[in-house]
Order: sequence, then C-alpha cells, then structure tokens
Amino acid sequence: MPSLPLLVLLLRATFAAPAAAPAPPTAPEAPAPPAASTAPAGEDIDPDGLLGGLAAPPAQPATAAYLAWAAGLQAEPHPEAGYRFLDELHAELAPVVAAAPGRVEPLLIGRSVRGAPIWAFRCADPLVAPGAPPPRKMLVFGAIHPLEWVGTEVVVEALLTCARQPVPGVELTFIPVLNVDGRRVVEGDLLEGRDRYRRTNAAGVDLNRDYTVHRDSRAVWRHLIPDRYSTSPAPLSQPESQALDALAAAERFDVALSLHTFGGYIYTPWAGHWERPPDRAELVALGHLMEQAQTGRPYRTQQLSHWAFFFRGCGMELDHLYAKYGTKAFLVELTRSGVSPFAPWTWGEDFRLYNPADPTPDVEGATRAISALARHLGGQARPHAAPVSPAKPPALPTTPMPWAGVQRALPKRPRPVAEPAPQ
Ligand SMILES: [Zn+2]
Repeated sequence: MPSLPLLVLLLRATFAAPAAAPAPPTAPEAPAPPAASTAPAGEDIDPDGLLGGLAAPPAQPATAAYLAWAAGLQAEPHPEAGYRFLDELHAELAPVVAAAPGRVEPLLIGRSVRGAPIWAFRCADPLVAPGAPPPRKMLVFGAIHPLEWVGTEVVVEALLTCARQPVPGVELTFIPVLNVDGRRVVEGDLLEGRDRYRRTNAAGVDLNRDYTVHRDSRAVWRHLIPDRYSTSPAPLSQPESQALDALAAAERFDVALSLHTFGGYIYTPWAGHWERPPDRAELVALGHLMEQAQTGRPYRTQQLSHWAFFFRGCGMELDHLYAKYGTKAFLVELTRSGVSPFAPWTWGEDFRLYNPADPTPDVEGATRAISALARHLGGQARPHAAPVSPAKPPALPTTPMPWAGVQRALPKRPRPVAEPAPQ
C-alpha cells in the first residue's frame, strides 16, 4: 500500500491542479533568451570547442573541456547542509577527474534548453584495455525532476565509490543532473528563501513524460483523471531528453537506474501499461538484489503501473530505455519523504517533502544497492540485451538528430502535467 506521504502527495496533486499551472512567461522556468548572459558564470568556457558546436559524439571523453568549465564555477554558501549545489558538486568531481585520467572521464552528452552543458561521467572497467569494449554497461542518472535532489547525491556518491574502487567487468556511466536548468531554478529558490514546487525543464515540460514508448494509455481511468495520463507535446521534444536518448543509443546499457524521490520503491517496467514485462522474473530478481544490499528498511520492488490500479506513467524514461534499447531499467523512488508527522513545520514544505534534511541513510543504502548491482552485472559475461517489444507497439517518431535539435525553436507550451505519486 502507498505510504502516508505518498497519499498526501497524490491527493494534493489530484485536487490542487492550479498549483501546477504553467508559469507566466516571466517566471524563472520560462525559456530564457539565447543570450550568453543568462548562463551562470563559467558556462561560456569552451576551450576545445565542444560546448558550442556540439560536434562531438555523445560518448567521447571531454576531460579538458570539463576541467576548464568546472574551474570557472564558484561554489557559494547555501542553506541545505545535506546536499551539494551544482557548483559545489563539480568542485568536488573535478579533482577526481583530474586525478584519475582514463578511469573517470567526463562526457558532454548535450545541452539544456538554456544552453548549459549536461555532463556524464564514465567510470572505466579496470579489466578492459583502453579502447576495448567493456563486457557490460550500466547507467545511473538523477534529477530528471529538479526538486528531487537525493538522486544527485546518490549518483555522486556512487561515482566517487567507483572512482576509488572500479568494478571489474562493468563500465558505469553517471549523470548527476539531467535537468540542469530546473536544478538551477530550485537552487535560486533556496538561496532566496522560496519554497516552490518545480517539476519541469526551462521550457515548462516534464521530461519524464517526453519519451517515445507508451505515450497512449488504454486505461479506462484516463477518462476520469486525464491529467494523470498526459505527456509532452511530442516524443523527445526536449534537448535534455534527446541527450539521454542519444547516450542510450550509443552505449546500449545493460542496466539503467533513474533516481527520483520519494516513496521507497524500486520500480520496474512497464510504467505505461498494466501488462507484465517479458523479463519480469529477471527485473524482479535484480530489484531484490538491490533490496538486499540496503540496510535498515529496504525499498520494495514493484512494477510501476501496479503502484495503484489507476496509475500509469506515459512517455516515461523507464519504458523507453527498456523497450527501445533492451536496457533493464529501474526507476528508484529514494527515501520515504522528508516530511515527518512528528514535525509539523515540515508539512507544507515542497522541498522538504522530497528531500530529507539528512539524506545520508538513503544515500548510503542506495549507493550500496548500486554497487551490488554493478558487481552482479560485472560477474556476468552475456552480450548486451536486445530491444523489447512494448506492451503496445508504439508509433516511434523520427528521432531528431540529438546534436541538431538543441537550438531549434521549442514547441508550444504543453498542458501542465500534474504530479502523480510515483514519478
Ligand atoms: Zn521524479
């Protein structure tokens, strides 16, 4: 059964639709003009020409460009001691990259709506010679939703763990923050003392309703609660989604974890249809493996569409990665919320709802789960998986070239997507 915080969230999202109304054009999440002055300090540094032209394929290391870019950032004091702000995060990762050439490599996988670079970090398989393909590949990414910060902390900790002790037999790729524009907006909120609910990128699109698979639901409930079943204006309409898709297409990951908050679940496909996925037994076994690696009260493995009889997630990353690339994909809802029934001052705080003041127990547990899954994967020698037929064959779009679509005009603003409990 869904927990109390989940039910509170669901009820609030269902009956308080105006709260998710689109921001006015002047709001922070509105698309910014392409002027360079809108970028935070340091984001114009581009010594290798990689950031501006996006000429590099997504999986090419960009170490020099990353280190120069990170050197231009300036970490500032902030009110959330348990979390890293973006500049702080890169100030911590840059020395690791510099100290471990060939072991931890930054990848420029795309740019956001506002032109900020989206960075991934590849932690090499220690048993594979440079340039040789690794036997297995695993992706861990966070912050597709900008208010959900625990996932970024988990990604960073898992990356640092891998940098210290690479996992034989598997190459890990980490994306700390996919929705970098949204993250900057939330950081601005916190610095200025605002508590705002944020879910979209800078174009006002929920990136986790922007993927290609299961965009149309057959559930009868879509007629009763249509906002629960809405998607973005078109599949892969946003540069952040295109960046993730291009990376997935190039790398063909065996396993992927998309980290969200909150709920305490390890969700498997499908999200958009009630039917069981073809690899259900293996997906559940991998979920249980992650559960067993956690201490305390472990998360529970479940198919996402079975969270509740009325729930479907249309156009989500989970089904996209599984159906299109055969990747065993999981959506992990970290924590059981930072809101406590014994702390009334937390009840109305959106940021705290998603982010406990101290995320350490969940970060440590999830990092152990990721390490256990990576070790398990590294012990296998099977070839990469093949694509999986979705429950309902989707009408796959003509995918725009990921490097060409970044600067084009954005589609009209979509109808806002209200917040379902699992995200
Ligand atoms: Zn989410």
